[in-house]
Amino acid sequence: MGDEERKILVVGGGISGMTAAIEAAETGAEVVLLEKNPYLGGRVAQLNQYFPKLCPPACGLEINFRRIKQNPKVTFLTLAEVQSISGEPGKYEVTVSIKPRYVNDNCTACGKCAEVCQTEIPNPLNYGMDSVKAAYLPHAMAFPFKYVIAPEIIGTDEAEKCAQACQYNAVDLSMQPVTTTYNVGAVVWATGWDPYDVTKVDYLGMGRIPNVITSVMFERLASYSGPTGGKLLRPSDGKEVKSVAFVQCAGSRDENHLAYCSGICCLASLKQATYLRERVPDGKAFMYYIDVRAMGKYEDFYLKVKQDENITLTKSKIARISPDPETGGVIVEGEDVGQGGMVKQVVDLAVLAVGMVPGTASVKPELDMEYDDFGFVTSSGASGIIPAGCVKAPMEVAASLQDATGAALKAIQCSMGR
Ligand SMILES: Cc1cc2nc3c(=O)[nH]c(=O)nc-3n(C[C@H](O)[C@H](O)[C@H](O)COP(=O)(O)OP(=O)(O)OC[C@H]3O[C@@H](n4cnc5c(N)ncnc54)[C@H](O)[C@@H]3O)c2cc1C
Ligand code: SF4
Ligand code: SF4
Repeated sequence: MGDEERKILVVGGGISGMTAAIEAAETGAEVVLLEKNPYLGGRVAQLNQYFPKLCPPACGLEINFRRIKQNPKVTFLTLAEVQSISGEPGKYEVTVSIKPRYVNDNCTACGKCAEVCQTEIPNPLNYGMDSVKAAYLPHAMAFPFKYVIAPEIIGTDEAEKCAQACQYNAVDLSMQPVTTTYNVGAVVWATGWDPYDVTKVDYLGMGRIPNVITSVMFERLASYSGPTGGKLLRPSDGKEVKSVAFVQCAGSRDENHLAYCSGICCLASLKQATYLRERVPDGKAFMYYIDVRAMGKYEDFYLKVKQDENITLTKSKIARISPDPETGGVIVEGEDVGQGGMVKQVVDLAVLAVGMVPGTASVKPELDMEYDDFGFVTSSGASGIIPAGCVKAPMEVAASLQDATGAALKAIQCSMGR
């Protein structure tokens, strides 16, 4: 085989992309893994715990980071995106653009640059719920474990101060964007998902009412590395959260927004109800659902969570969320479809269970791929560009791992001309 025929490019360094890269590399293929963020791990790095076992995602991620680090067959690039792809299955030429990190491999993550940096930027890891210094480590478990200098301060005295504070010559303000070319036999496209922009569902109050947040934000709020160090505090006034309404299908299964079911957000809310119950002994969770989707092996998890008498599940489509001036919390209202009558519940915090939207819904790369009506990639991979994970459909981590392993196999076959 020629050099390019042994090489596979994986785009997206989330759990799906990392899995595809490792699986392919462990069969002997040369793999180049691209990630647009300054760290690997994707959305999983932003979760607090995994359902159904409620273990921290850091464990699973760390194993994958180690496998990548120890495998000389994997080259990974952060802050990297595909600029163009030409060619055919078995023989692609890919142009990749890499943004500067302004920090080189000498970085020991000592944090001295952050100490002298005054400028703060919205913290992307915490969905902007707090800010971070413009010289920052993306998160405590970040891989690679290296700081980043935000482009916002490049060209300012502040950036110079960061460079001067570094004893290891790790800050390199002269770094420029780099374009490089790879010849590969197949491409795995694993660019994942984004949370639905639920500010579009005006009656749910997201963006207007401080104590209405999304499920992805609640993951960060509950995380010990999150904006409140894992304390469940009300965004409006920092008061301890004692009651939470989990509003299911926030924009999902709605022809005006996302017509499909994301399949995992019921499980995510059940899991998040346990965060409240674990942290706040007298805390009360109210989950408002159209149907509870907890299929197959996940049904046991649903049944277990449901046993907690401080977790109330009500079949209801929430029609309005408004601020409650009396308590400083929010009022959640809708029809009680199961029992009849109306739901009206005052809680400290409303958490909107947002659906998963593929990155390819908004930006379709110029590639030989097909899409469904919602932007998910439907291609079979016959083209040599093989989708993997949540870019194909909403799925949980276990399904993403299986899908990515299948994609790795297809990529190997394709790169070998089979
Ligand atoms: C609220 C919530 C809670 C959840 N909790 C759980 C849970 O407890 N257990 C569970 O099993 N699942 C859970 N999930 C689902 C889980 O997040 C997904 O299964 C997982 O993120 C899928 O991984 P992925 O790699 O396919 O996508 P992603 O995690 O989105 O990773 C994609 C990666 O590709 C990168 N990327 C995107 N575009 C480009 C590009 N053009 N070039 C280079 N890189 C790019 C992204 O930066 C990202 O790093 C939850 C989901 C939600 C919404
Ligand atoms: S860039 Fe330099 S100062 Fe900043 S964390 Fe790395 S080694 Fe420390
Ligand atoms: S998984 Fe649950 S919350 Fe998510 S769209 Fe489906 S029914 Fe709605």
